[in-house]
Amino acid sequence: MPALFSSRFRPSRSSEPAGPALEPGAPLIRLRDVEKSHPAGTGRVYVLRHVSLDIQPGEFVSIMGPSGAGKSTLLSILGMFDGAWAGEYHFLGQPVHRLSVRERSALSKPAIGFVFQQYHLLDDLTVQENLDIPLSYRDVPKRERQALVADALDRFGIVGKKDLYPGQLSGGQQQLVAVARATIANPRVILADEPTGNLHSSQGREIMELFRALNEAGTTIIQVTHSESNAAYGNRTIQLRDGWVVDE
Ligand code: ADP
Repeated sequence: MPALFSSRFRPSRSSEPAGPALEPGAPLIRLRDVEKSHPAGTGRVYVLRHVSLDIQPGEFVSIMGPSGAGKSTLLSILGMFDGAWAGEYHFLGQPVHRLSVRERSALSKPAIGFVFQQYHLLDDLTVQENLDIPLSYRDVPKRERQALVADALDRFGIVGKKDLYPGQLSGGQQQLVAVARATIANPRVILADEPTGNLHSSQGREIMELFRALNEAGTTIIQVTHSESNAAYGNRTIQLRDGWVVDE
């Protein structure tokens, strides 16, 4: 099996972090009393309860807890995919809870790389076209985009797959493409939901080593994981139970 990130690995060349500058000492992410619920019968079922937390730039955070605790829900709120919640969320000093869908998208797309559990690759685009999408959100010139895509294909050992569609790849290969896509544009923060769930243990370790290298280069990482060994790469663990933060 090829090494995914040999000594050739370097954080992307694409640059300055996207988005508004952050005041010194200010958190990258600030949640206050975030609640999420769904209608159930005559009442509501709560998925997140009074979640308040700060995440500083450069942290590597693991969100853990039993199935159904609200981990994926919390990650989708942080990634701004879910807008139906109560409370306050500041990202890069901007009040997400007061922004329109369009404003949230403009804030999140250049700044956040997301690795979903179900990959969420675009099925009618090839591997290399999928990798180009995050670069299209940043003002990267076409020639540089092509170079960055070629570099990522090479580092992830998927050059031979570049013209295939996601449906033609195994689950593990799709997960690699998803990680490559989330990291290619040098986002400020990477949100990852079980990023190694479908990989062989050695590939999973390489993904975690990549996250560690990106984190050392300044990228904030927030991962949902069931794995103690993946969590050990982080500097902080947030435990959720039934929607409550129970332990840090
Ligand atoms: P985790 O990632 O920790 O496994 P999730 O965030 O996926 O948990 O889900 C938290 C809870 O929210 C689960 O109990 C799930 O059943 C519930 N849930 C998710 N979507 C809905 C919905 N549309 N209606 C009711 N309950 C939901």
